[in-house]
Amino acid sequence: MLARAGELGRRTIDGLLRLLYPPTCHVCGERLPEGRRMGLCSACWRTVELIKHPWCAACGRQLERKEIVDPRGENLCLDCRLDPFPVILRGTARYREPLVRLISEFKYDFWPSLADQLSNLFVERAHALFGSWRPDLVIPVPLHVKRFRWRGFNQSLLLARRLAAHWGAKLAEPLARTRNTIPQAKLPTKARLTNVAGAFAVTDEPSVIGRRICLVDDVSATGSTIRECGRMLREAGAAEVRAYVLARP
Ligand SMILES: [Zn+2]
Ligand SMILES: [Zn+2]
Repeated sequence: MLARAGELGRRTIDGLLRLLYPPTCHVCGERLPEGRRMGLCSACWRTVELIKHPWCAACGRQLERKEIVDPRGENLCLDCRLDPFPVILRGTARYREPLVRLISEFKYDFWPSLADQLSNLFVERAHALFGSWRPDLVIPVPLHVKRFRWRGFNQSLLLARRLAAHWGAKLAEPLARTRNTIPQAKLPTKARLTNVAGAFAVTDEPSVIGRRICLVDDVSATGSTIRECGRMLREAGAAEVRAYVLARP
């Protein structure tokens, strides 16, 4: 409770400071246009590196030149050639600066204008990445209830809601995080899969049976969370599971 009150106070002070000192672009320091409270100016925004074709047909990672066999067709990254990623995963942009910083601000200092800027990009890129494919359900990767209470919102739910509206699909939340895992970013790659193993449960199985699903998350660095949620949904009877994240390596 005290933490929440402190947070509220901090946000109020931030709001006042913004009135006195107009907001500037995080990267270049240029003053932002009227009405924009956070984020990047349009020139810096263009430095966000979109994932462009050819990406890995399985895990959606941007391919390196040496991995591209057929520049116009489908290619697999070196990892997926050995062990194809089990969920068709796509990412909007590469998890590099300035996106790393923007996502952290999106998650920890919620600013509506920044959330708008990021979710617009997410939705705009969906067609290039998924073509005419459409799911029945769009499902956000859930936060544990403790983390949700502390943060006050789930950034993946926000992205999922926008995507569902864009695709005319149903937004559903049949997944729950049953264990409060260590944030994946704090762990080495190998520990990430065990960290999320058994951390999720499908709380509403009938709603996913026979459905085509698109899972949504903000970042997928190693794919461990998507892999685990995809496995749970398929075991519960989903017909097809794909995933879409804002940032991928
Ligand atoms: Zn700028
Ligand atoms: Zn791959």
